Amino acid sequence: MTAELARECARYAAMGWMRGTSGNLSVVLQRDPLRLAVTVSGVDKGEITENDSVVIDENGEAVGSDKAPSAEAGLHARIARVAGACAVVHVHALAPVVAAEHWPDGVVLKDLEMLKGFGRHDHEEVVVPVVRNSQDMVELGDAFEKGFDPRTPALLVARHGVYVWGDDLIQARHRLECLEWLLRFKVETRDIFTGRHA
Ligand SMILES: [Zn+2]
Repeated sequence: MTAELARECARYAAMGWMRGTSGNLSVVLQRDPLRLAVTVSGVDKGEITENDSVVIDENGEAVGSDKAPSAEAGLHARIARVAGACAVVHVHALAPVVAAEHWPDGVVLKDLEMLKGFGRHDHEEVVVPVVRNSQDMVELGDAFEKGFDPRTPALLVARHGVYVWGDDLIQARHRLECLEWLLRFKVETRDIFTGRHA
């Protein structure tokens, strides 16, 4: 499982979505009590190894290790708990942050084939929720839970990044790749839809 975390990190790093030492991934190891393996903090995600993960509890605290989990581990655990996700991916891709800047009350997506890859129907109106950034994971978690829609497996954190989740790391990656495309499309076509180029 931890080898899978390292492999996925390397992919995201190669896409430029985990710049510096940013971003983190987690997988649920067991449900009761909740335990997740999450990537450690402060490590270049392009060079992460299978030893660079730590087990956390439902509050994001390390269990049985003196390695430091990511500061954002608490939100991973909250998403796993509330959404029932088995894998959570957090990256600092640019398009989600730009989209959150334009639509701070939520990004509306509709009539786009790629919505299928995000786990929704292409004709549905999908609102990707946006929350304000905070260093307090409880505050972020509360904001996430308030706007949580079980049909939408993603959360945008303004001026920060994006969280996407799924039944496993592969499903979460496919959803993230499609969502990143959708948000890039939304940002790049915004002038058309506001009528300025009509
Ligand atoms: Zn982050």
